[in-house]
Amino acid sequence: MKCGFCGHEFGEGDGKKSCGGCPGGCHSIHCPRCNYKNPLEPGLIKSIKKLLVKNDIHTDKGDT
Ligand SMILES: [Zn+2]
Ligand SMILES: [Zn+2]
Repeated sequence: MKCGFCGHEFGEGDGKKSCGGCPGGCHSIHCPRCNYKNPLEPGLIKSIKKLLVKNDIHTDKGDT
C-alpha cells in the first residue's frame, strides 16, 4: 500500500498495526517512514462487499 502522506510504498505487514497510541484502539496502518495513520486497504473492503452482493443476488424463492 502507499502512504497517503509521504507516498512511501510499503507492504501491509511492514506498517505498524496496533500502535497503542491511537485512542479507542488502532484500526489503521502506520507508515514505517513517517508514522502517518493510513486507513486500512479499501481494496479488501471492496472484495468483501463484492462477496456480500454475490450472496444478495442469490435469492432462494424455493418454488420450482
Ligand atoms: Zn508515510
Ligand atoms: Zn495507531
